[in-house]
Amino acid sequence: MYNPKSLKAEEFICHQEVLDTLAYADANKNNVKLIDEVLNKARERKGLSHREAMILLDCDLPEKNKEIFELAEQIKKDYYGNRIVMFAPLYLSNYCVNGCVYCPYHAKNKHIPRRKLTQEEVAKEVIALQDMGHKRLAIESGEDPVNNPIEYILDCIKTIYSIKHKNGAIRRVNVNIAATTVENYRKLKEAGIGTYILFQETYHKESYEKLHPTGPKHNYAYHTEAMDRAMEGGIDDVGLGVLFGLELYRYEFAGLLMHAEHLEAVHGVGPHTISVPRIRRADDIDPDVFDNGIDDDTFAKIVACIRIAVPYTGMIMSTRESKACRERVIHYGISQISGGSKTSVGGYDTPEPDDESSAQFEVSDTRTLDDVVKWLMEIGYIPSFCTACYREGRTGDRFMALCKNMQIHNCCLPNALMTLKEYLIDYASPETRKVGEALIKKELDNIPKEKVRTMCADYIEKIEEGERDFRF
Ligand code: SF4
Ligand code: SF4
Repeated sequence: MYNPKSLKAEEFICHQEVLDTLAYADANKNNVKLIDEVLNKARERKGLSHREAMILLDCDLPEKNKEIFELAEQIKKDYYGNRIVMFAPLYLSNYCVNGCVYCPYHAKNKHIPRRKLTQEEVAKEVIALQDMGHKRLAIESGEDPVNNPIEYILDCIKTIYSIKHKNGAIRRVNVNIAATTVENYRKLKEAGIGTYILFQETYHKESYEKLHPTGPKHNYAYHTEAMDRAMEGGIDDVGLGVLFGLELYRYEFAGLLMHAEHLEAVHGVGPHTISVPRIRRADDIDPDVFDNGIDDDTFAKIVACIRIAVPYTGMIMSTRESKACRERVIHYGISQISGGSKTSVGGYDTPEPDDESSAQFEVSDTRTLDDVVKWLMEIGYIPSFCTACYREGRTGDRFMALCKNMQIHNCCLPNALMTLKEYLIDYASPETRKVGEALIKKELDNIPKEKVRTMCADYIEKIEEGERDFRF
């Protein structure tokens, strides 16, 4: 029985409700009157239910699809302006007891080199990341209670926040580790994490169990109910995601939105972010074995429809996607991207030779962070290294309230410009700096409030003189 308020996975991600939603959307995918009604509701920026969003996803009328993409782009502009927040993943350990069939770190892979960073090595990775200019990390680790217990993760977070190297500092650590207990989530919260990210991989229970044949992750309910435990433990920013390619994308899309609705219904706050990874090649993983892969057109449509359905939820695209794909899709709703990423343990300080890769997945966009920053500016975006909200206590419902009444704009643009200025002075190549300085000058005029504009210009001058870490 479908019940978004239930705390039971099989009730808030009810299989029958997903099937009914897919059938409903299929029956209405050319129903212009209904599509127009849904689009009009979306234009009021109130978001959409999973059923409504599904109709848009399935719609194959060219003129309506054009409207869908235009609306997604407009909503992105309204809530996120032309800013893109930058981050990098940091792999701590690839020891894992699970059997996920799409990941090379699965326990049966005996030939991949297993590695776990010592605290000294964590410090080296962090220094390498700071030297690139990163301020925001997502830490990643396999699940292994012996090698990677929660104490190890907490030690790593402490080390990461403690490293102050030249003008660098990691100001926000997001955490992507296996589903765990309320008590452990509480410890993560106390350690000062930003968002807790956990990909569902697939919402389809039967497929989920086949794709996770062994290990604690096999337990669908425990995994799917993790965000509720995280919120019970005090973490109010959580990040959802599925691995597109494992199951039929329509099922995943409905499941993702039902999960978002569940969090809103139970905790009064939806997901902080949604990630949209697609399966990639890696050590003993051939993505062609998974026959639910999606093409770039479908991928773009998914991004656009998520943007319309949950306007206040950030959307993350990683270096799994190529430059060309990122350039196309970014306009439809992406708010955060990674740059200069290494997806192996210890890969920043000591890059691996190409023929000895122990990466979790092959990176498609292999450009340096400096290249990505310059490229973003050239295609009309402001790369932002902002971490202000979390540090000002603007998380969970406080963040959502600001976002919903669009007050967030008075913070995001000046913070983007100030953090970009820091990046340009401390890390950028001369060409990137030139492009960036011109952009900052131009964008300062777009800060709506005069008082904030004047303060921001003043802070930017102070950054030039050597001061750091201003924020609104
Ligand atoms: S996806 Fe995560 S849990 Fe699964 S094998 Fe890879 S590292 Fe382990
Ligand atoms: S001000 Fe808050 S919402 Fe805006 S970019 Fe910074 S952290 Fe994100």
